[in-house]
Amino acid sequence: MTSRFQGIGMTSQRSRDRLVGQLREMGVQSERVLAAIKNTPRHIFVDEALASRAYDNTALPIGHNQTISQPYIVARMTEALLEIEDLDKVLEIGTGCGYQTAILAQFARQVYSIERVEALLTKARQRFYALKYRNIKVKYGDGNSGWPENALYNGILVSAAPITVPEVLLEQLAPNGRLIIPIGRSGEQELLSIARTDEGFTKKRLDWVSFVPMLGGMG
Ligand code: SAH
Repeated sequence: MTSRFQGIGMTSQRSRDRLVGQLREMGVQSERVLAAIKNTPRHIFVDEALASRAYDNTALPIGHNQTISQPYIVARMTEALLEIEDLDKVLEIGTGCGYQTAILAQFARQVYSIERVEALLTKARQRFYALKYRNIKVKYGDGNSGWPENALYNGILVSAAPITVPEVLLEQLAPNGRLIIPIGRSGEQELLSIARTDEGFTKKRLDWVSFVPMLGGMG
């Protein structure tokens, strides 16, 4: 990798190690997830002016009233998906800057990601190209419809919060698959892991969270 991707100063390996230490203290256990966080250059996914804060455990603005998710939440959601041993196909709703997508691409054979703000998607696509992620396909569209052409998915991860679980996403989940999704209004959202079993769906709450709302239509 070039030095731009390795980072200097606050984007150095030391600040990444500190972030990983914080996530471990907060209860993230998967060594594979912690290694992915350590090896993924989060500073490439935010504006240069914010690069010095890229390895803080906080959400940061990415424009268009959206934020890059907090590293702890990215780690928790990814860890929850890794309950599935064979992560063949994963669908993500809300590409945003592409950071969570890049983490997923290190665990799934193929990642599909949908974003409703075209300008964000264009930038994310450029980052995937520069960082040589070859197993990510993106689409400009409304995630409320999922991406039926490539269904079923072993995992579906939603990065924006709808009020109720979209039925369509449950339909696009493979047997034994997991849907990781924040549900509810701002200030009272729960992060759910929904598993598709032989008998139907089972739900468990992972955490209380704060995501931007899942909107309808195109941005
Ligand atoms: N994981 C992303 C999170 C970005 S914030 C990151 O770390 O950058 C959530 C994203 O979901 C925003 O980019 C927003 O535009 C997008 N979004 C909201 N509603 C959507 C919908 N219905 N379909 C697709 N994307 C949506």
